[in-house]
Amino acid sequence: MAGNGVRIGVLALQGAVREHLAMIERCGARGVAVKRPSGLSGVSGLIIPGGESTAIGKLIDEYAFARPIREMAVAGVPIYGTCAGLILVAARVKGKHGTILGLADVTVERNAFGRQVDSFERELVIAGIAEQDRPFRAVFIRAPVIEETGPGVEVLARVEEGVVLARDANVLLGAFHPELTDDERLHRYFLEMVAGAGGASGTEV
Ligand code: GLN
Repeated sequence: MAGNGVRIGVLALQGAVREHLAMIERCGARGVAVKRPSGLSGVSGLIIPGGESTAIGKLIDEYAFARPIREMAVAGVPIYGTCAGLILVAARVKGKHGTILGLADVTVERNAFGRQVDSFERELVIAGIAEQDRPFRAVFIRAPVIEETGPGVEVLARVEEGVVLARDANVLLGAFHPELTDDERLHRYFLEMVAGAGGASGTEV
């Protein structure tokens, strides 16, 4: 199985940390809450969760996470940004925004479904992950959308408003919260990426 024993970090500054850790464990991998940059060493993949991107960005600055996370991404360690995490890993965010890590060649718009729309669900068909006969029930919470993708970016799912799941090499980008359902398919897909990348981060910090 893809996940066996491998250590997956969840950036644990703010947001939906526990739910991702639980999902990782259900998939047979070890979930590690990463609270400081030293916690990145030895993880083979990193999830940046949903929450509030401005708050997480400030804490990324405060604890000097940007450089080691960028180094991990350049070294090919898989990184999965969901919702606020997507905003933080994007190269470009429309409007004013604090820290962004610039790991993926996409332009993101925050709160793209209207500020008044708090949350909603949509059934998504995702190429190679969730086919027509068993779509993925995606939970969107004040969600961003990917408005533009660079030439190297693979689009995995889109809705009327834009792209909601994409992959730029070792960076997976999702606008919705896969950890809030029972559906393990996206975490398993990420663990396959990790298995394919092979190897823990040796980031020394
Ligand atoms: N709208 C939030 C932000 O801009 C993201 C929401 C979420 O992560 N569910 O940070």
